[in-house]
Amino acid sequence: MRVFFLSVLALFATTAPAHAAPPVICVDPGHERTPDLSTERIGPGSDTYKIKDGGGTAGEATVVLQIGKKLRKVLVRRGYEVVMTRTTMEFDYGNGGNIARAKFCNRHDAALMVRIHADGSTDRSRHGASTLYPAWHKGWTSDILPESREAAAAIQKAYIAKTGAADLGLVRRADLTGFNWANVPAILVETGFMTNPTEGAKLKTDRYQWKVAHGLTNGIAAFVPAP
Ligand SMILES: [Zn+2]
Repeated sequence: MRVFFLSVLALFATTAPAHAAPPVICVDPGHERTPDLSTERIGPGSDTYKIKDGGGTAGEATVVLQIGKKLRKVLVRRGYEVVMTRTTMEFDYGNGGNIARAKFCNRHDAALMVRIHADGSTDRSRHGASTLYPAWHKGWTSDILPESREAAAAIQKAYIAKTGAADLGLVRRADLTGFNWANVPAILVETGFMTNPTEGAKLKTDRYQWKVAHGLTNGIAAFVPAP
C-alpha cells in the first residue's frame, strides 16, 4: 500500500502543471493603409534592400485585417494566446515594415507567425490559395525552416479543405524580409485573389472570412495543438 501511495505521488510530481502557458500565435495581417516605399535590409547583415510595404493589391489591407481579427477570436476560443502586429490600418508598434513585424513575433516567442495576405493579378481568371514558407539561408532561416515548412503544409491542407479554394500549393521564398528576420516558425497565407471577381467578392464577406479563420485555425492546431 505504501509503495502504491509513493508511486502515485511520483506520478503527480512528473505530470506537467495543469496551467501551462498556452502557445502564442502571432497573427500578422499584411500591409497598412498606405504604402511605405522606404527600404530595409532583406535579412540580417544583407546588402540587399527592399521596400517596406508596396501596399498590396487593392482592398487587401482591409480584408486581411478583418480576417486576422476573426482568426484571433477563433484561436482564443480554442485556448491559444494571440498577439497581433496590427489591429488597425496601421502597424500597432511604431514605424512598421517587415523587420518590425518579424521582431514583434520574435519578442513574443511565438509558436508560429501567421502572415495573412491576399493575391492580385492582371489576369482576372487567376484564383486559389497558396502558403509560402522561408527558403533555406544559413543564419537567417536555417533554424526555422523545418518547422515552418511543416506548418505551411498543415495550414495549406486545412485551408483548402475548409474553404474549397483552388489549391495552388506551397511556395518557397528567399526574398521575403518578414521571413528572413523571423526567429520563430513563420508562414504566409495567400488567402485568395482579390482580382478574381468571384473570389475577391467572397473574401470581402463575413461568412467566407469566418470560414477562412476556421480553416487557418485547423491548420495551426495540426501544427501546434491547443492546450
Ligand atoms: Zn500582400
